[in-house]
Amino acid sequence: MYSKPKEVLKLEGIKRLDLIHSGKANDVFATSNAFIYEIESTDRVSAGNGAKKDVIPGKGVSNNTISTAIFKYLADHGIPTHFVGDGTTPASKFVLAADMIPLEVIGRLKTAGSFCKRYECPEGIEFDEPFVEFTYKSDNAGDPPIDRKTIAALLDQMQLENEREIDLMEFYTAHIAELLQEFWLNFGVEIIDFKVEFGRLENGEIILCDEISPDTCRLVDLETGEKLDKDRFRENMKDPEKGYNELLARLCNS
Ligand code: UDP
Repeated sequence: MYSKPKEVLKLEGIKRLDLIHSGKANDVFATSNAFIYEIESTDRVSAGNGAKKDVIPGKGVSNNTISTAIFKYLADHGIPTHFVGDGTTPASKFVLAADMIPLEVIGRLKTAGSFCKRYECPEGIEFDEPFVEFTYKSDNAGDPPIDRKTIAALLDQMQLENEREIDLMEFYTAHIAELLQEFWLNFGVEIIDFKVEFGRLENGEIILCDEISPDTCRLVDLETGEKLDKDRFRENMKDPEKGYNELLARLCNS
């Protein structure tokens, strides 16, 4: 089990300082502790690499609450994560400052989305075991799929030390897939696929970072198959906020 360095766990009196990064949905702030950042989940929503943008009131609080519950669950099940504690607002959390690895790691339980477009296959085919693939995280390049051989050829650019670290991220993501399946079943929800990101601590350790929320997962009601994630926004459904609200209510009322 991962244990966090003792000195970074002293959160009392920690202060939010300057905004150091504003992403599509999240803002990252420095804090009075050099080892810790504060991440605020905002109500901003975007799709198609920023082509479609809007604001969904309450999304920041929902996503932060959901992601925090998931990160705690994963940490309890042996996945090392950046989460260290609740932040100064209901939409924020304190995390370990890590250098991000520029890869998005996709875990799939069933076919959907870009996988189906790429291979012209139907949605909903179940994989025998969690299917893991990588994309290169770059808005300029359009987050293209990247295979192991290419990652291995570009280790420095990918901020990796060796090929075993590719195996490690793949292993963590397959394990996370099984844990997320179990987590969401408790709330009558099926997970179809998801995206995770990893970062590196000063001591070299690779840990799970970013968020796991309805913005980064495909989630459907177990009984009806109703979509409860960002696909409602991507597909211009009339009530894109419904998934965030519904999932938060299920988590809070359990
Ligand atoms: N995903 C994400 N950020 C991205 C791309 C994908 O969070 O930049 C998530 C997406 O919400 C889905 C999973 O990763 O749960 C797989 O997405 P896919 O590769 O099918 O791409 P998409 O169809 O979302 O473009």
